Amino acid sequence: MSWSQQSIKSQNKSRILQTIISDSPISRASIAKKLKITKGTVSSLASELLEEEIIIEYGPGSSSGGRRPLMLLFNEKAGFSIGIDLGVNYILATLINLNGEVIYEKKQTITELNKEVILTDVIKIIKETICSAPQSPYGMIGIGIGVPGIVSNEGVILLAPNLKWEHVPLKQILEEQFNVPVFVENEANAGAYGEKGFSLKYPEAADNLVYVSAGMGIGIGIIMNGVLYRGRDGYAGEMGHMKIDLRGRQCSCGSKGCWEMYASEKALQLEVDNMGILSEELSLEKIRKEADTNKELREVFKRIGFYLGAGISNILNTFNPQEVVIGNRLAEYKDLLEDVVIESVNRHALSFQTENVTIRFSNLTPYSTALGAGYFTIEKFINEF
Ligand SMILES: [Zn+2]
Repeated sequence: MSWSQQSIKSQNKSRILQTIISDSPISRASIAKKLKITKGTVSSLASELLEEEIIIEYGPGSSSGGRRPLMLLFNEKAGFSIGIDLGVNYILATLINLNGEVIYEKKQTITELNKEVILTDVIKIIKETICSAPQSPYGMIGIGIGVPGIVSNEGVILLAPNLKWEHVPLKQILEEQFNVPVFVENEANAGAYGEKGFSLKYPEAADNLVYVSAGMGIGIGIIMNGVLYRGRDGYAGEMGHMKIDLRGRQCSCGSKGCWEMYASEKALQLEVDNMGILSEELSLEKIRKEADTNKELREVFKRIGFYLGAGISNILNTFNPQEVVIGNRLAEYKDLLEDVVIESVNRHALSFQTENVTIRFSNLTPYSTALGAGYFTIEKFINEF
């Protein structure tokens, strides 16, 4: 077989697999019709995929007449990816099947901001997650990890201010330890990829999507024309430091009036501390309960929602996306924030920017980053068939 024939064959094989993933269960005849290739080609390449155990066959399916066909399905259990969300105060590890379903998870609180301790814990939690994986033809296909910092194109954490990390070659450390492909990505970029990757199965999936990760800080992940936009060096999306009040609150970056000082969990903490209503550590349940009866606290959420919406209106004016997804910790306060965020966006954005745009809270919370990180390895794995 010549090089060009080989290349066409592998392209067809990949397209067949993609079709089975998106349209599963599907018959060989339907694939041939959809991709406009011969049934013989589909049959022979499907046999290879069956042998490789990345698809399975079941049947027979329905037919409008004649013999009922056998159906092909994606084998989402052929292998497993590990998706890690390394937060500022927690490590969330997930075992994900190839369809993006979380089949095991483990969460651990970070109590001490010591790099060596955290790295040891990350490795330990990955080992435990691997142990939880069921038997499968390919086993663990890779590890993805989302981190709260700036990551170089080589998977080095250049700076994670909240963890106080600089120049940590995390990809290399984990690849040496586990001997599988490792992807290290900024948590907001991973979150955007999670929203994109696992909504691919749904027809409404957006090719122009901005994911707003509103945790202790704010970062955004940008999907532009279907591709993650990382900027020249991987630093794009640091919108938490967009100035919204030049004479405003002092930010840890050295500037004043950054968005995240008004619309993040940090802002919430600041305001709640000022009110003096909750002496202990901020917890979701406590805040929720308190908000039921405390009008002042509900006003805090109104202010945070107002600023969150104002920042999102800047995103709409800049990127003209189809969809803005709000994720991370603030997404857990959806019921307290949603109305005021939408109202604020409509008030601040140019009117044509708000037509046909969806602004929503993530359905994947709290898994967006972990799933997105895991999805990088799944995508690489699938693309290699
Ligand atoms: Zn700042």
